[in-house]
Amino acid sequence: MTIETLSFQQSAAWKDRVLPPVEQVAEGVWALPVPIPNNPLVYTYCYALADGSGVVLIDPGWDGKDQYLALTSALADLGFTVADIHGIAITHYHRDHIGLVPALLAKNPDAWVAMHGEDLRAIKRFYTNAVDLGTGIDPNLNIARAYGVPEDRWAEVESLQVGSNKGGSKSDSMSLYRQAMSRLPENIHVLDDGTELPLDDGRLTAMWTPGHTYGHSAFVRDEDKLFFSGDHVLPTITPNIGLDSGAITHSLGDYLRSLEKIGELDEDVAVLPAHGFRFTGIHDRKVELVEHHHERLGEIRARMEATDDHSVYSIAAGLHWSRGFESLHNFNLFAALAETAAHMHYLGIDIGVGSLVGKD
Ligand SMILES: [Zn+2]
Repeated sequence: MTIETLSFQQSAAWKDRVLPPVEQVAEGVWALPVPIPNNPLVYTYCYALADGSGVVLIDPGWDGKDQYLALTSALADLGFTVADIHGIAITHYHRDHIGLVPALLAKNPDAWVAMHGEDLRAIKRFYTNAVDLGTGIDPNLNIARAYGVPEDRWAEVESLQVGSNKGGSKSDSMSLYRQAMSRLPENIHVLDDGTELPLDDGRLTAMWTPGHTYGHSAFVRDEDKLFFSGDHVLPTITPNIGLDSGAITHSLGDYLRSLEKIGELDEDVAVLPAHGFRFTGIHDRKVELVEHHHERLGEIRARMEATDDHSVYSIAAGLHWSRGFESLHNFNLFAALAETAAHMHYLGIDIGVGSLVGKD
């Protein structure tokens, strides 16, 4: 089954990088686009699922006044208020997915929150700036030096390093966000592979899909073959692998194994991703994603032969990047280095960060 869009409105919006309309995507399920400020992804889909007399949300999206308004007015059009939210299921802890959770809980403290234990841990150490990261990477390590980044570019990378305390001072919005995340409630439903969400109505099952983050979870609704894929499988882009603060080193092996889990799903499931558009043809998409990473591994092997400088930076500089390596700065540079490091580690190449957990 080839990859086919299930919504021309959504795929047209994705192509033009504009906000798509709210759409009903299945019986009692709606896709509500929530904008992401200054980001090429433009929006995250929050999925609203009717649940008894209320509603359950998957990934409410980025935090902010405009976002809160976009989400709550879309819910209002469907006849729901924030008080009707029974619970919030989270695919992973990135800000464009989980950001609005504290604001929603402030209005409705009775709503449950469900997420994988590994991403809960990641939030605690990342957003609270905890020093003990449990990653196996020395928090005092200068990752820019370890990766062979030229000294005049260290500042671009350092502020983004795991456990860095410099990120918070970079933008007020980020430090406010860190504070909000540090106040997440303790009564969270911790998900594992196969956990059923506490719905009043129907069944929704978590599928643990580590890779993009170590605790990334997708959700399966068997009765009408819906697969809420989060960022694990997207229709046209590949999720960044390697950036996760909790599992920088073994994320590619995890990701490839998680892609194999896609084989457990029926071929004709409707894929409801967090970005892009909904589609069918998940088995073909899986093959494309696996091929992409194998091509990348091949590129890295070739680059290793072509140069004596085997630092992550030097290898990354020799890879193909859609807008060229020279155009990568700050976050984009860090993401490219992390992705390169994850692929190199997968190949058993020393990436210069010392003792590591989670070898493949
Ligand atoms: Zn995302």
